Amino acid sequence: MSETKVALVTGGTRGIGRAITLDLAERGVHVAAGYLSNGDAAQKLVDEARSNGWSVSVHQMDVSEPEDCVRFANEVIEAQGQVDYLINNAGINVDRTVRRMTIDEWHSVMRVNVSGCFYMIKAVIEHMVERKSGRIVNISSIIGQTGNVGQANYATSKSGLFGLTMSLAQELAGKGITVNAVAPGFISTDMLASVPQNVLDGIVARIPVGRLGHPEEVAYAVTNLLSDRAAYITGAVIPVNGGLDM
Ligand code: NAD
Repeated sequence: MSETKVALVTGGTRGIGRAITLDLAERGVHVAAGYLSNGDAAQKLVDEARSNGWSVSVHQMDVSEPEDCVRFANEVIEAQGQVDYLINNAGINVDRTVRRMTIDEWHSVMRVNVSGCFYMIKAVIEHMVERKSGRIVNISSIIGQTGNVGQANYATSKSGLFGLTMSLAQELAGKGITVNAVAPGFISTDMLASVPQNVLDGIVARIPVGRLGHPEEVAYAVTNLLSDRAAYITGAVIPVNGGLDM
């Protein structure tokens, strides 16, 4: 078994996932980053990591397809011999008030944000239990704690991750595996790109720290949960929100 730790990061080539990938790679972890569609951007990330002497591989996969999740996990276990960390980061939003939301818009968000995490967990859990070691981090959202107009599907999916996290944490607590959630506030990534500037200004005005968060600031929380020294933190929700929920 290799001394090098191995992480799976879904949606690991863009936004918060990219920051997590680079933070872990810089710390000597081999990161297997899943990506949905932009192969060129994924390859650029591999090149950037390689030029720094870091180890990153990229794997096309769709978290809403259970077979893709199994293939992704197996590809990495075969190539690297182990998986130590799973970071369920991939997520989407399809915003509409409940009155206008279609059934498809509801289910598309559930399939990616909730079922995608479940499928990835299923794909690695037996491997982690066998090794009596593992760290699982689910990227939720402050919206799962507060709700938001036009985001009932997204908010429900992200609160769903709290239930998944706490249940799985209890199931795995005696097996050397921790399961936690990180709940970012408003982080400047493509996900916020469609939010009009005046709405963003209104959000920032409510954030005690007085600005949007950086993806690297979410990565910092994730990385610390993966440490051997974080063995007593499980079933927790770590907020990274500039004080927005006080
Ligand atoms: P982003 O849109 O830049 O990244 C989302 C990533 O998920 C992309 O890499 C995308 O390709 C991937 N993805 C989407 N659907 C997928 C699928 N079916 N299969 C595989 N990959 C898929 O946004 P981001 O801000 O970096 O979001 C990352 C996570 O953080 C998401 O779960 C999001 O809900 C959460 N989050 C973001 C914010 C924010 O303000 N940006 C706040 C709270 C939580």
